[in-house]
Amino acid sequence: MPNAHRRLMDCHATWHAMADAYMEPDSFRMHLNTLIQSLRNVTWLLQKQKNNLPGFETWYPILQEEMKTKEVMRWIVKSRNRIVKEADLELLSQVKVQWMRDWLNGGHQVFSFPPRLSTESMIQGIFSMPSRPYEGVLTIARRWVDKELPERELLDATRDAYIELNRVILVAHEQVGHGYLCYFQQREPECVTGELANEPIMCMDTVPSYLRANISLDDERVIEGVEEFIPHDPALNAKAVRRYGSFSTPLGSPVDVAPRYLEQGKIILAKDKAHHTFVWLFRGEKIVHEMVPMFQDQNSKYLALNRIADAVESVRADGLLFMGESWYAMGEKLTDAGKMIPARDRADKKEALVVDAITRKGEARALMATFERTFWGKIIFADDVIDEDIFPNFLVPIRERWTQMERQGN
Ligand SMILES: [Zn+2]
Ligand SMILES: [Zn+2]
Repeated sequence: MPNAHRRLMDCHATWHAMADAYMEPDSFRMHLNTLIQSLRNVTWLLQKQKNNLPGFETWYPILQEEMKTKEVMRWIVKSRNRIVKEADLELLSQVKVQWMRDWLNGGHQVFSFPPRLSTESMIQGIFSMPSRPYEGVLTIARRWVDKELPERELLDATRDAYIELNRVILVAHEQVGHGYLCYFQQREPECVTGELANEPIMCMDTVPSYLRANISLDDERVIEGVEEFIPHDPALNAKAVRRYGSFSTPLGSPVDVAPRYLEQGKIILAKDKAHHTFVWLFRGEKIVHEMVPMFQDQNSKYLALNRIADAVESVRADGLLFMGESWYAMGEKLTDAGKMIPARDRADKKEALVVDAITRKGEARALMATFERTFWGKIIFADDVIDEDIFPNFLVPIRERWTQMERQGN
């Protein structure tokens, strides 16, 4: 067992090396080849030990049949002999290189390069053009795809294969006996541990920053990913319990538990006089991911919602709960030109704490508790909570992502 288990950990480490090399065609291909072989070897090493594994003949064939039904697993098996050739990758992979001067004044140009060209060579190519841009941001967006698996981006596909093999090794451990543990030394990166989680592994999320490089032309440096989220810190949980009392996360679909979250949010708001924006992603009745997005303006809100949609897809969430402060005004008011005036621009606006819950099945629930602040800053909530089954417009990017996943059969 430890041999197959260790090889699975090799896959995890190689996946990260491959993600880090996304912008460099040769390194990417090299790590991909290693990863495909290692993924294939996990089950081989398991089969080699069959005489030492109790009941192997009964449980392994079941797992094997399940693996055969998965397209990505069949691709791993097929790819082993072929070892992804550069030509196969070239065919369907993409690279988009574009230049933007700034958001406000425009200035936009798209460049074409073959995907196998290194990022460095592309930049040099652009810099040697007579009409080269001197300011703004150059964005290089890559997408690696193999001809034999044309619908799938490769980080995402290999992550799925890893999760599948993780499950196989987990079942194998359970079959050998509960409490059976392998011992492994600490590895690099730190997330590569012997733990066989039953959940998708968050560190292997395909985040957009893997697939893109942004280069500032003003000083010719790579812009590191703009972090829109405060990372979740478990140490803060204990502090929160001391301040707000304990809140046992209720089990249920986001639509069902929304009122409980609103009640908890009211306690926090009354204490702190302000409430962060929170987003929880659900799978079924369980929370699988938590985010604290920061919106400074409409643009950043739009970007943040796309990041949330990426997370929804990557953890396969089928429900979402949003909580935050918002403006609220009764009824609609129009400008002289007949355009609706947003609540934030109206004189009669009120503050509100809102909880919005949506699910992939199409359910929606919007809760709102309006409140006023007294002269001394105390928060007084209105008696009634507004509770409607309307879909909030700002969550459209999430709904669109679910529709897209539906089309792709994810
Ligand atoms: Zn093990
Ligand atoms: Zn990891």
